[in-house]
Amino acid sequence: MRDTSTNPSRGMVPPAAIEALLAQERGRFAATHPRSRALAERCEAHYLFGVPLHWMRDWPNPSTLFVQHAHGAELVCADGLHYADFCLGDTGAMFGHAPEPVARAIAQQAYHGLTCMLPTVSAADVGERLAERFGLPYWQLAMTASDANRFVLHWARAITGRPQLLVFDGCYHGAVDDTLVDRDPATGRTVRRRSVLGAVHDHPDFTRVIPFNDLGALECALADGQVAALLAEPALTNFGLVPPQPDFWEAAQALCRRHGTLLILDETHTLSTGLGGYARVHGLQPDFWVAGKAIAGGLPCAVYGFTAEVAARMQATKAAAPEGHSGIGTTLTANALALTALDAALQHLHTPQTYATMHGVANRLETGLRALLHRHALPWTVTRLGARMELQFMSETPRDADDVRRAMQPSLEASLHLFLLNRGVLLTPFHGMLLCSPVTTEAHVQRLLDAFEAWLAALDLA
Ligand code: PMP
Repeated sequence: MRDTSTNPSRGMVPPAAIEALLAQERGRFAATHPRSRALAERCEAHYLFGVPLHWMRDWPNPSTLFVQHAHGAELVCADGLHYADFCLGDTGAMFGHAPEPVARAIAQQAYHGLTCMLPTVSAADVGERLAERFGLPYWQLAMTASDANRFVLHWARAITGRPQLLVFDGCYHGAVDDTLVDRDPATGRTVRRRSVLGAVHDHPDFTRVIPFNDLGALECALADGQVAALLAEPALTNFGLVPPQPDFWEAAQALCRRHGTLLILDETHTLSTGLGGYARVHGLQPDFWVAGKAIAGGLPCAVYGFTAEVAARMQATKAAAPEGHSGIGTTLTANALALTALDAALQHLHTPQTYATMHGVANRLETGLRALLHRHALPWTVTRLGARMELQFMSETPRDADDVRRAMQPSLEASLHLFLLNRGVLLTPFHGMLLCSPVTTEAHVQRLLDAFEAWLAALDLA
């Protein structure tokens, strides 16, 4: 039995022990995934980095894992192995893989047209359902959350006539160049995100970055009246999980209003908070609201909603602009399949019952993880946002991206991911995020908890 008083140096594993475990687990993966390996070898010939999207190599496994099929909260790989999936396509499959009502609706629509560049008859229902579920009267669609954010930024700058954008340090809003900037911790200035390839425009000239949860910095950034919009997730979910301080959003929202800056909430991930998303659950009133990924059950589709006042400004701005390309929209946007999937998802997935089930299983996971951390006296935290939670190698809940940066242990994290993958549990590759779907079961949760405890034991932490 361990002493349960936590000691901050516990959880600091010698790098050599992590490397040894990683080497062992890479060998285990190679031995148990011969079919995936063979596919990886074939794909090397025709795909950059051997995958159709290079991020698909950002997993800790030594060669790509190929999916045979995914259903509910499980995925089966090319070698016939089953995984309890807590990554869920990094949220695209938050409601489970191939949710039945969406799959059925897509299959039916597929025989009646895929794309026409005209709205299908379900558009009227979809508009009403969006307004009712998310509380904003006006809507536009996009194909992906990245697209939706890019389009909203065009609108925001166009209707305010202001050039600047404000984001939080550690943000991610998709492939949106304006937002791919960082805050230099030494000077507090906005700098290019160094990992971005082929950047030629000076986005730091038009984007300001401030620490999350910092109302003083927000006030300073807005003071000159040049900021068109604050684009933010209600909680940072792409740099660890950083929840807002109590009352942060109420004050931040008031500051935005006072300075004529539009508030854009990107709820692509925080939809996990509860029915209608974080803003709905907590009574926030953004000017624009964005969601993609799971919004239509995982079929490519994104939406952005806005207030009547903003809609009037958008209409006036468009009417006053010269004829021609607006820079907003893509040909396949709101195609027949996307509208159909969205309609089915709004009726059958964005429901109180779905969220109750999803949150019930997330409660079980959170309690189980906390019990293990306590039992083994580990000074780590679990941060929770509805169906989503993050295991963080730090003793306190972070307040901003710098707190997360200080606690990062990438190889420890990689060893956890690979160890669990080898025991039939998938975690999101980029961080310690665990997402529960309405079809995640107690057995999936138990599999994760058992594998987690075995990993602790393998590193001599249990
Ligand atoms: N917004 C947020 C908050 C996200 O987390 C992401 C992706 N992780 C995006 C937007 C972009 O989504 P997509 O890659 O589907 O365009």
